[in-house]
Amino acid sequence: MTSTLSESTWQKSLAQAIRDPRELISQLKLPESLLLPALDTVQSFPLMVPLSYLNRIEPGNPEDPLLKQVLPVDRENQTVPGFSDDAVGDLQVRPTPGILHKYQGRALLMVSGACAINCRYCFRRHYPYSNEPRTLAEWEPVWDALSADSSIQEVILSGGDPLLLTDLRLQDLCNRIAGIPHVKRLRIHSRLPVVLPDRIHPGLLELFQRLSENGTLVWMVIHANHPNEIAQDVETALKQLVSAGIPVLNQSVLLKGINDSVDELVSLSERLINLGVTPYYLHQLDRVAGAAHFEVPEEQGRAIIRELRTRLPGYAVPQYVREIAGEAHKVSLLG
Ligand SMILES: *Cc1c(COP(=O)(O)O)cnc(C)c1O
Ligand code: SF4
Repeated sequence: MTSTLSESTWQKSLAQAIRDPRELISQLKLPESLLLPALDTVQSFPLMVPLSYLNRIEPGNPEDPLLKQVLPVDRENQTVPGFSDDAVGDLQVRPTPGILHKYQGRALLMVSGACAINCRYCFRRHYPYSNEPRTLAEWEPVWDALSADSSIQEVILSGGDPLLLTDLRLQDLCNRIAGIPHVKRLRIHSRLPVVLPDRIHPGLLELFQRLSENGTLVWMVIHANHPNEIAQDVETALKQLVSAGIPVLNQSVLLKGINDSVDELVSLSERLINLGVTPYYLHQLDRVAGAAHFEVPEEQGRAIIRELRTRLPGYAVPQYVREIAGEAHKVSLLG
């Protein structure tokens, strides 16, 4: 079955994603009262839900943990002190358009301004993507900057979602990066294996394998928050990545009413490690405007992690971290 997947398969899946709140509410048989607030809110940050993800949501349940990640609600429009547009100081660490250079040895490239799903808690929901390079010519200064800084051993592709680039475009960027001798690792941060699993097709796996074999090791960091997200098609995609020899890590965001529960996080970790995916980070929510209603107090987060340690192998307990603007690394919340 998998061998029939191709570039056009995932592009079709992406085109079919739901973008209209009316459709989301009618397909999921949700109360009509949710519609007006959703219509109001999508103007500032659009709705986007691939059908594969929609299929994992329980119809008629406004409290579904996956629905809550994608349904626009009126609380997003409230102004809450402490929650701002650039919560993590991205724009202070941007030496050249396209690059965020925050941490030693690693440079992050904003290669895509789009995602296949719009997570309502997104820390980059206000990021000014339109100022980033688009054409290959506009990327030239980025390659110059990376080539000139031999301290950079790892390049992280981020965005937006880097896997929304076509295979050809991705291959161009990866080849440019792989051509810089001091860059040894290429890390890809993507939610697509979880929300648009068709994206993992043989052509993409071959690209990653070729890069790794030629000395630029490809690492993948996916983003799943809840065990219900690991559906059958996601399992297939993750197994393919792991079988291709690509190290796969997962990061989650701790989200109120979604995964602020020991049982759900244990179940998520177990599903991941049974597929060969290592839990990496559990992020404290970045305090981005519009996301205040998702925040879990740090004390509660710490209690959850202490409990996870009693129930999981050590390697299955993610590091509980928060990003603090100006710090040299992500800050552990457990001390
Ligand atoms: C999180 C992050 C990284 C990667 O940090 P790790 O702790 O190595 O995962 C790199 N650059 C930026 C800008 C980041 O926000
Ligand atoms: S996939 Fe990541 S970058 Fe995209 S909307 Fe969700 S949290 Fe934001």
